Amino acid sequence: MTEEAVRTSSALTALVADLTSALGAEAVTEEPAARKVASTDWAHMSPILAARLPAGLADVVAYPADPEQIATAVHLAHQHGIPVTPRGQGTGNYGQGIPLCDGLVVDTSRCNRVLEVGEGWVHAEAGTSFVAIESAARKQDQEIAILPSTVGSAIGGFLAGGSGGTGSIENGFIWDDYVSELRIAACTDRPELVTVRGADCRPHLHAYGVTGVIATATVRLVPRRDWIGLLASFGDEASAVAAGRELMRLDPLPRILSVDEPAVVATFPADPAIPLGRFSVRAVIDRPTETAARAAVTAHGGVVEDVRGNGAAYLASLSFNHITHRARKARPELCHLQIAGDAMITRGEELRALLPDTMVHLDGFTMDRAEGPTFAGMLLCRFESAEKLYAGIERMRELGVQVDDPHTWLLGGDLTATRAAARRFDPAGLLNPGKLPSE
Ligand SMILES: Cc1cc2nc3c(=O)[nH]c(=O)nc-3n(C[C@H](O)[C@H](O)[C@H](O)COP(=O)(O)OP(=O)(O)OC[C@H]3O[C@@H](n4cnc5c(N)ncnc54)[C@H](O)[C@@H]3O)c2cc1C
Repeated sequence: MTEEAVRTSSALTALVADLTSALGAEAVTEEPAARKVASTDWAHMSPILAARLPAGLADVVAYPADPEQIATAVHLAHQHGIPVTPRGQGTGNYGQGIPLCDGLVVDTSRCNRVLEVGEGWVHAEAGTSFVAIESAARKQDQEIAILPSTVGSAIGGFLAGGSGGTGSIENGFIWDDYVSELRIAACTDRPELVTVRGADCRPHLHAYGVTGVIATATVRLVPRRDWIGLLASFGDEASAVAAGRELMRLDPLPRILSVDEPAVVATFPADPAIPLGRFSVRAVIDRPTETAARAAVTAHGGVVEDVRGNGAAYLASLSFNHITHRARKARPELCHLQIAGDAMITRGEELRALLPDTMVHLDGFTMDRAEGPTFAGMLLCRFESAEKLYAGIERMRELGVQVDDPHTWLLGGDLTATRAAARRFDPAGLLNPGKLPSE
């Protein structure tokens, strides 16, 4: 063993002892199966990331039971100089939750209480699932403004690793007034829970936990609606897209609106209301808008195949990255890209010619409040090699299509605020190392 390895090993032993004494023996494990589970997420959805797996293995996993214990676990990791990666339910699909430098994984799943529900907001512990939050909100005739299609994932994981989903047509993304307050466990020389509010929450969103571990979050609730699922089919793309746009003018707006071409439909489980060979439009709409929604479908030459009173959860499972999951189950050779911009529709034919077997799924979103609802897309294509995929991405950008690369665990975009927050909340650079690119 090298001198450094000996030092790390004795630091780990000391960390495990301290965690056990602070959190209790039942809240700390070095058991191999638990370490493996805590080191895995949905990165295997990407053939590029899958080729790099396994990419790290937790040495120890802690399961804090409340916000104070999260702060204690993170502080102890700092004290012993051990890397620490936070974890919700591990459904992130860019490998965000993989402990690339091993060390401690702080699994927040036991810290899962809805603390308070107020008019227009809910305050919950980081590990609380969306199922639990929706259930608490609905008792007060409210519902959560945005949630991912992975309803079992945790609020802390969604804020740190996700972006939008169900509810994003009306309410935008997690950085659009969704979060009013966070309590953040800092990785510093004392156990610290720091409260940040309003715009100060922004650097902690979609930051993969490198700016501190979210211990509790207060997020937006909206009035509860009576959601139903409408399934329609069309003979051509232009009509399906036009109907989709009109459905996104219903008042109130749909909670989900998805459009698929026949090649994507062919990867779905059989459903007579999603006929093979036709373009499918599916919308989660408020029950009082059903007549207007039916009229929008028929006005564009479509057929209303079914309206289901309890169809909302099912249609969520046919939206966003669930499409990639289903498509890759049916055709493992496929891979995905997140795309946006009108060019993905107006230059659809050229787009489909760039990479083999290209098909496009659309979901309704509001990207810019001034412009109102529009579409974002998931492009599926046959994966041949990383080089060919990235060459295709370049050409997509030349067409004016915006592409978000889901095949990297490195944080992207303007990271100025993220870096500043990381310096404050993680001066030693121990939080989820390997995700924040070096300057
Ligand atoms: C089939 C499928 C469908 C999906 N659909 C959507 C969708 O509709 N919308 C969407 O946005 N995403 C979607 N995702 C991605 C993922 O489900 C979401 O981002 C999800 O909310 C992550 O939550 P989680 O609890 O699983 O977090 P994890 O995967 O455990 O963690 C995600 C990231 O956040 C960090 N983290 C976890 N907890 C904390 C914390 N308390 N404090 C700080 N950092 C933390 C982790 O280190 C990791 O970097 C989908 C994924 C799959 C596989």
